[in-house]
Amino acid sequence: MDVSVCSAAFPLDGPGILVHGGAWDIPDEALADHRDGLRTAIEAGRAALSEGQAAADVAAEVVAALESHGAFDAGRGAMLNQEGRAQLDAGIMDGASLSYGSVMAVERLANPIRVARRLMDAGRGQVRMLAGRGAEQFAAAEGMSVVDNGDLVCEREKSRYEKLSGEAGVYHTSQSFLPGVPETQTSGGHDTVGCVVRDRDGRFAAATSTGGTPFKPPGRIGDSPLPGAGFYANEDAAVSSTGWGEAIAAVVLAHSVVRAVEEGTSLQNIATSCLEDMHRKIQNPDGEGACAGLIAVDRSEVVWAFTTPRMARAFWTPARGDVQIEIERR
Ligand code: ASP
Repeated sequence: MDVSVCSAAFPLDGPGILVHGGAWDIPDEALADHRDGLRTAIEAGRAALSEGQAAADVAAEVVAALESHGAFDAGRGAMLNQEGRAQLDAGIMDGASLSYGSVMAVERLANPIRVARRLMDAGRGQVRMLAGRGAEQFAAAEGMSVVDNGDLVCEREKSRYEKLSGEAGVYHTSQSFLPGVPETQTSGGHDTVGCVVRDRDGRFAAATSTGGTPFKPPGRIGDSPLPGAGFYANEDAAVSSTGWGEAIAAVVLAHSVVRAVEEGTSLQNIATSCLEDMHRKIQNPDGEGACAGLIAVDRSEVVWAFTTPRMARAFWTPARGDVQIEIERR
């Protein structure tokens, strides 16, 4: 069955920052918090960009602000796994160097994106991806902060966890439970956060961070920390994805978009057709096509596109001045 893609494109002829705070059926009562988080994150990015920081540093700052805000499924607002623990994934990529860094299933990092950013640096034995304890040990050895898992567990997510643990149903990555319960009728997305940046020198970066799906089995990894799936950047473009992680990974969503840009396709057209393609090719056990959202930037425009009921997103360029935040149901 065909899906309708909600998308918009804005012309860009200089630096710019585009942020998302997840693609799903974001409840009305969470909107104000999401807006606040997006604004805070854009402000952090704006400060970093005006200091002349490089795209990857700006993207890391923006995503760290989203991880620290608490409104999103990342960092201190992460959804909890079946053991009631926050288990986080994050990844970042610099388009100019094709360097990336990624951490997954970490339980003691409040800002996993900062550790991923550190792994991205050259000259570290080329290790780019670290999981669990290894990532936490790396962070500690680098003098970065390591916290107790309890510090990452917020009241909102504790209540969600308690509710989900009391419900019958079979866990599925697309909706958390089948048959679906109201809380999880999302076609597979949550408040994962991400950012794409074009900096003053025309370099691109993409970064994504998540707590994953609610009530996930311990150790489950989605698309977010996988280069090519949850994030990708090269000399021409950058993309951050959100939505049903297993489906996004199967179509290597972020790289598919960037690759088509490299071949000359318009960013908005390719973003739309990649989401349609994924929806057509992958269904969940209820027969629903896979849904997702993405943000993207290339040399001439920034684009957002999604197939979920809502996607929280915000956009700023020095040329436009004001921050544009959009989150309303389409
Ligand atoms: N893609 C994330 C995951 O599967 C979830 C999301 O984007 O909301 O872990």
